[in-house]
Amino acid sequence: MNRNLNIKKLSNKETHWDIIIIGGGASGLGAAVDSASRGFKTLLVEKSDFSKGTSSRSTKLVHGGVRYMQNGDISLVIEALKERGILKKNAPHLVKNMSFVIPSYNWWSNPFYGIGLKIYDMMAGKLGLGKSTILSKEETIKLIPNVKKKDLVGGVIYHDGQFDDSRMAISLAITAEKNGATLLNYFKVKNLTKTNNIVDGIIVKDQITNKVYEIKGKVIINATGVFSDKIMKMDYPQKKKMIKPSQGVHIVLDQKFLNSHHAILIPHTSDGRVLFAVPWNNYAILGTTDTPLNEIKDEPVPLKEEIKFILKNAQTFMKKKPNFSDIKSVFAGLRPLAAESNQKNTKEISRHHKISVSESGLLSILGGKWTTYRKIAEDAINTSISIGGFNERKCITENLQIHGYQENPNWKDPLHVYGSDANLIKELKMGKGNISLSEKFYITPNQIIWSLKNEMAIKLDDILARRTRCLFLDAKETVKIAPKVLRIMKVFLKKNIEWEKKEFSNFIEISKNYILT
Ligand SMILES: Cc1cc2nc3c(=O)[nH]c(=O)nc-3n(C[C@H](O)[C@H](O)[C@H](O)COP(=O)(O)OP(=O)(O)OC[C@H]3O[C@@H](n4cnc5c(N)ncnc54)[C@H](O)[C@@H]3O)c2cc1C
Repeated sequence: MNRNLNIKKLSNKETHWDIIIIGGGASGLGAAVDSASRGFKTLLVEKSDFSKGTSSRSTKLVHGGVRYMQNGDISLVIEALKERGILKKNAPHLVKNMSFVIPSYNWWSNPFYGIGLKIYDMMAGKLGLGKSTILSKEETIKLIPNVKKKDLVGGVIYHDGQFDDSRMAISLAITAEKNGATLLNYFKVKNLTKTNNIVDGIIVKDQITNKVYEIKGKVIINATGVFSDKIMKMDYPQKKKMIKPSQGVHIVLDQKFLNSHHAILIPHTSDGRVLFAVPWNNYAILGTTDTPLNEIKDEPVPLKEEIKFILKNAQTFMKKKPNFSDIKSVFAGLRPLAAESNQKNTKEISRHHKISVSESGLLSILGGKWTTYRKIAEDAINTSISIGGFNERKCITENLQIHGYQENPNWKDPLHVYGSDANLIKELKMGKGNISLSEKFYITPNQIIWSLKNEMAIKLDDILARRTRCLFLDAKETVKIAPKVLRIMKVFLKKNIEWEKKEFSNFIEISKNYILT
């Protein structure tokens, strides 16, 4: 992906875009892959970095959603289980089979969850990842040694998928470009243009150079997650809000708090939801919360109450109990729930997506899950065909391999998320290119150069938060190694000392949200 070359395409008056997508999260990137692979001339603009919004801040599960089954949202579970299977098939280097253990503390839980999960297995059908099984007390302790033993009666084990959300986003971005799409990060849509009351373009500003462009397209897709209302208001200022944002926080702990390669699902938190503790890159990730919010930010701030809630619920099932001082990193994301703003209880709002088309033809994608991004994109592009009056072209993404596709990945190799690119990264000619800059997590000079050259990384934050996941894993250690990363970037990008100072202070500001003080 080459940003400068892509910018040149914007100035080319010969280019007529069929579909312009605003937003480079799961929904927008999925739409770009779908649109380009059907042969539509596709442009995607993202105001910040790809997946900077909610799509890098998920629990990182490719799942049907056991909780939605409890809520009776069966059609969502069936759709998500199907998409889970498709994603695992098309991106085997990014989606890992993860086993989850549900510990039981009363006699009826085991048969109850056992039957529920058998139904979950049946709903997945041929695309199932493994059979669920009832466990004895001893088996449960063997699989999750840090589980609280007092009153434990047994457990149930079931299977879902785990992925690296921002690495998936980058792979989708490259897949879209390979299929002919043009993608630009740090391009913010400031307004929409209309002719005869029909939306026919965007006014967009390059956030790096401040240059403004007016670009015309036959269909404009609003895939801006929690920011969707803002774009809809550019179309129709009186528009009522259609997104109810809900914040979800995760904390990241040392792996010793799980001491297992199995994840844990706690089926009943004090607010009546579920809590996950999942092994991830040699750490354990715990979450999440569901806090309705009125204000939306690019860098959402985890609330003290949310962190306390996760710790308190974790402490009820862990023998070795985590405390504030054990937290290595904390991150918050905003769910773009499709609901009227007066709906208060966000945990009960369905995670189903909606496609909305305004009178002037603006298509907005509302709600949805990472797991179902492909189906969301298919629905959005099918609708775009009607809006744009295009000839029918069938969706092909069910069988489209995602960039980096590689069967039987070595999950122990920290570069497995790059799939077929991993060897190219290792072979880059750099002095100590393959030696990690930290002993706590893996980040090498070669990865930094690779993401600058091939993955449109521009800022320090892009590399430390989304091309690699350092900031999400251990925020203090990330701040420690940031100057080393910046030096490599400065030399490669031929930048000066002022740039270096500014990048560093911007990054320190961002990192404060990930560090508990
Ligand atoms: C805490 C939490 C945990 C979750 N866990 C899971 C999970 O485990 N599995 C799962 O399947 N789903 C999960 N989800 C849901 C999933 O993460 C979201 O549904 C998905 O990421 C939403 O993607 P999106 O593209 O709609 O929004 P976003 O990722 O927010 O993308 C919207 C993009 O639009 C950009 N944008 C906004 N305004 C403009 C503008 N004016 N111009 C240009 N660009 C603009 C933003 O910068 C942003 O990058 C979770 C969500 C949360 C909050």
